[in-house]
Amino acid sequence: MKCPFCNTEMLHGYLNCGTAIWSERKHIISTNPDSKEKYALHLEVPMMSPHQIESDCCPKCKKLIIDTSDYENNLG
Ligand SMILES: [Zn+2]
Repeated sequence: MKCPFCNTEMLHGYLNCGTAIWSERKHIISTNPDSKEKYALHLEVPMMSPHQIESDCCPKCKKLIIDTSDYENNLG
């Protein structure tokens, strides 16, 4: 896909990671969401290998694009 910011062809790959949460707020202690925050891409501690989040990276402006629709979230 083309980068929506600079129109460069993006690299397709994987965000290899452990526990993670994208949230409106900073998490200091744990990555568990509370009842008030909006969150996406909540990942528990992986059992074996890291989570592999299919995504695209722009080699020019270095932005990552992640489709979070298949992951745990409370965005509705
Ligand atoms: Zn770009």
